[in-house]
Amino acid sequence: MLLSITTTIEPATDLGYLLHKHPDRLQTYELSFGKAHVFYPEAAANRCTACLLLDVDPIGLVRGKGSEDGPLAQYVNDRPYAATSFLSVAISRVWGSAMNGRCEDRPELATTPIPLEARIDVLPVRGGERFLRAVFEPLGYTLTATRHPLDETFPEWGESPYYAVTVGKTTTLAELLAQLYVLIPVFDNQKHYFVGEEEMEKLLAKGEGWLASHPEKDEITRRYLKFRPSLFREALERLAEEDDSGEISEKAIALREEAVEGPLRLNEERIGAVMAALRASAARRVLDLGCGEGRLLRELIKDKQFDEIVGVDVSIRALEIARDRLRLDRLPERQAARARLLHGSLMYRDQRLEGYDAAALVEVVEHLDPPRLAALERVLFEFARPGTIVLTTPNREYNVVWERVGEARFRHPDHRFEWTRAEFQAWALAVAARFGYAVRFLGVGPEREPLGSPTQMGVFTRDGSVIQ
Ligand code: SAH
Repeated sequence: MLLSITTTIEPATDLGYLLHKHPDRLQTYELSFGKAHVFYPEAAANRCTACLLLDVDPIGLVRGKGSEDGPLAQYVNDRPYAATSFLSVAISRVWGSAMNGRCEDRPELATTPIPLEARIDVLPVRGGERFLRAVFEPLGYTLTATRHPLDETFPEWGESPYYAVTVGKTTTLAELLAQLYVLIPVFDNQKHYFVGEEEMEKLLAKGEGWLASHPEKDEITRRYLKFRPSLFREALERLAEEDDSGEISEKAIALREEAVEGPLRLNEERIGAVMAALRASAARRVLDLGCGEGRLLRELIKDKQFDEIVGVDVSIRALEIARDRLRLDRLPERQAARARLLHGSLMYRDQRLEGYDAAALVEVVEHLDPPRLAALERVLFEFARPGTIVLTTPNREYNVVWERVGEARFRHPDHRFEWTRAEFQAWALAVAARFGYAVRFLGVGPEREPLGSPTQMGVFTRDGSVIQ
């Protein structure tokens, strides 16, 4: 995989400052899936080109992975040659500062639009030149695309899906790199190897200012997050938010996940147990973090003990449903003033969440990728720091009781993990100790020895806070 960036600004060698890489040197970076080499095939005053050559290790890549496309496909495929998400990952690792617009030596250079050209030698494109143009031209790029034949010696075999693509415009290097970073993985429409919630966050962050108003934003987002419909839906909702004219597409809403966990009674029992713990904490000002469609909020609003109730969720759609179900806009004024909904992510420190008596997280943590849990731990226990935290999560041991789930699977397609009681307690005790909380454990729902209850609950109290 080869990506070349050329500028003709004078002196063109300023590109070396912008990329933080000296034009005279070849540099090599070790990545988890191979090596990236950076070099400058030309570095004259009127034209300078920097190349990023990615040397993917196809054997290292499959080590430890199961085979989805048959055993041979793991070793015989186009990954080492074609530009896919690997190239995006390499751009962010090797040219990350430049993509973020940082240039310590020459800060003014980073914000100045300069004539730039990017060439990708082998880009697999599903949707052909038409799709290439539909993606790049609305962003103001000129584009030339040449399709590679399947085999040079046998033209009668026809064309391959690979293109040599050159795009050019006068812009900042940061914008060019951010747009390539987001768009390169979109063209091949294959499963990528890094797609997860983090990827969505990156897509949205790097798409800031241009993706929300792009005419192909649905298709770009769909391809990017192809194998994760729930992420796709969420990404579109957030893009629609960003773009004033944006409508959430029907298609996206139709992808709403359905809960598959057991009987309705368990939900009620869970909400009852959480309410009991919140009441016992004597809290008046409470947060429902990851409030979803507002099941707990409805009970909180009914109880006069709570005089400030705040529901927080990352999903706009869930918040809209909560707003409609709770009829927040139709409550008598005094009651309505008690309850609010906030759009936010528990991945980021948020001052709006600080200073509350208690917080509930009902069936939320298992939706986070394990590495993201560390962010939540700090956001919740270190920064928001409520007196009491009531947290529930499935007890994985119990799944064998439900035929539809069984031991091997999770209760919900969007769950990233489900903990046994020992795993949950080990996590909770460690977090409590780290942030100065004590924790008690309770089972919720019918108990079946030796499996325990279907839901496990931890009640954390901050040292020094009053327990009644
Ligand atoms: N507490 C609700 C919903 C549980 S489903 C109930 O018991 O019915 C999990 C919820 O967590 C979803 O609504 C999802 O949008 C939300 N969520 C997932 N990741 C989040 C994050 N990073 N920040 C805030 N909310 C999140």
